[in-house]
Amino acid sequence: MASRVDRNKGKMVGTCCICGKEKELTFEHLPSKASGNVRRVKHSRPTDIFVGNGANLCTPAFTILQQGIGGPSLCKNCNNSTGRWYGTAYSEFALRATGALKEKNDAVSVDLSHNIYPLRVIKQVVSFFMSANGPGFHSVKPELKEFVLDRDARGLPDGIHVYVYATTSERSRLCAFAVSIKALTNEPQKFFSEVASAPLGFVMTMDSAPPCDDLYDMTHFAQFDYNQQADFSSRLPVKSIYSYFAGDYRTREQIEVDFLIGKIRGNYLKLEGPHSPKPPALQFRIPFLDSGRITGLFRPHDPREQNNADNDTERAREHDFDKYDCILIVCSATEEVSNEQLTVSHVSNLTVNSEPISFCFRGVSGESARRHGCRKLVEYVSRIFEDQNVTGRVAIISDIESETQKKVNNGQVPISGEFVLPQYFELVSPKNAIEMEVFDKLKLECLERASNILSEFRGAGFPQLINEQFRLMTIQDLPILRSEASLDTNMGTTGTS
Ligand SMILES: [Zn+2]
Repeated sequence: MASRVDRNKGKMVGTCCICGKEKELTFEHLPSKASGNVRRVKHSRPTDIFVGNGANLCTPAFTILQQGIGGPSLCKNCNNSTGRWYGTAYSEFALRATGALKEKNDAVSVDLSHNIYPLRVIKQVVSFFMSANGPGFHSVKPELKEFVLDRDARGLPDGIHVYVYATTSERSRLCAFAVSIKALTNEPQKFFSEVASAPLGFVMTMDSAPPCDDLYDMTHFAQFDYNQQADFSSRLPVKSIYSYFAGDYRTREQIEVDFLIGKIRGNYLKLEGPHSPKPPALQFRIPFLDSGRITGLFRPHDPREQNNADNDTERAREHDFDKYDCILIVCSATEEVSNEQLTVSHVSNLTVNSEPISFCFRGVSGESARRHGCRKLVEYVSRIFEDQNVTGRVAIISDIESETQKKVNNGQVPISGEFVLPQYFELVSPKNAIEMEVFDKLKLECLERASNILSEFRGAGFPQLINEQFRLMTIQDLPILRSEASLDTNMGTTGTS
C-alpha cells in the first residue's frame, strides 16, 4: 500500500483502498469491530511466514495489533460511510453465525436462518476485499469502488463471485488475490482472494472457480435493494483456518500429517546415476498485487497460544527424521498359492533403474515373513553401501510388531534367521498420533502394492532381471524358507514394474 507516516502529526497518509484518494488513513477493522473483532492479535506478514525456502506455519514472527485484525487502509469518509450503511447488517449476520456455531461445536456444516439485508452484507464484504487487496485493486476492478460508495448500486462486475463459509478457528487470515496452481495435475489454475475470521470466511474469485466446491455462493446478494430484507436460509460449510494459504482448509493436524508424508516420500534412496525424487503435487501461489501492510495471518494474543508454543517445542523433540539419510518403508503380503505360503515384500521409496523393488520368497508366513522381508531390504541396502563405499543412517518403517522392533534395534534378537540388524539401520515406530497416522497410511499403501504384485505373480509370474534380460519367474523358481534358522542370504532380489 502506498502509505507513509506524517512524522509531524503522527498521522498515516496514503491512498484510500476504496475511493483511491490520497488522504489520512484510519484503521479499518476486518471484519468489523461490532462483529467481535476487538481482541489484541499477533499479526504475521507473508515475509514473517515464508523464511528461506520454507514456511513457518506454527510460530512465525509477529507484531502485536492492539486494535484487533485490520490496518490503516481507508480514509475517514470511506470508513465512516461503509460502517454506517453496512456495518450493522453485517454484524447481525455474523452474530447469527456465531450463535449457530455455538450450538454445534464440531459440525461440518451449520444451518443459518434469519432475515438479513443481503445487499448491505455483501457491500461490507466487498469493502473488506478492497482493503485486503490494497489501492492497486482499483485499476483491476474500478466498478467495485462505485458498488461500495453508492449504497444503492446493485450487481457485481462480470466475473466476480463472492463465497461464504463458517469457521470456529482461532486463527484469521487476509490474503490478497493470488494465482493458485497445482503442479503436475490437470486442475485449472484458480484466482482468488480470501478474508477469513471466525465466525465467517469469504472468498472472492475473478473469472475462476472457487478453491473448493462446497462454499456458499452469495454473489446474488448484490441483486437486492438497499432497503430490501430477505430470509436467508442456508447451510454453510464449516472450515478450518490454520495456514496462511488462501483456500487451505486443513486443520493443524492434517497439515502436520501431509508435511511428514511429503518428507518421507521425498526422501528417496538414490541408487542410480542422476535421479531426482518425484516432486509432490506442489501448490504455487503467485501474488497478483502489492497488497500492502494488512495481509497476513492473525493469532489471538492470549496465554492459550503460549501453551501451544510450548507444545510445539515438545513435539519437535519426539522424532527427528532429519537425522536419517533415508527413510524406507517395507510391507509384506503372504498368500497360499499351490500349497505354498508365497510372500511379496514390497519397498516404498527405493528404486532401481527407476523401478520400485520387491522381494519374493516362499515357505513362511505372518511375522516370520514380515521379518524376513525386512531382512532382505537391509541386506540389499547394505550391499549397495558396500559397493559404493558409502554409509548412511537408514530408518525403516515396517509391519513388524513394535515390541519386536525394539529388541531388533538393540540387538537382543536377530531380524530373521541369525541376521542381526547392522549399525546405521533403525526400525522406527510412531511416537505420537501424527506419526501413527502417517505410518499407517504409508504402510497401507505399501501393503496394497505388495498384494497387487502377489496377484500379478499368481497370474503371470514375476519378471526378474537375469543377465540384463527379463524373464518370468514362477513359484518353483523361488527359494523356500522352512524355518527361521534355515533362512539364508542367497535369495534373489527382484525388480518389478
Ligand atoms: Zn476513501
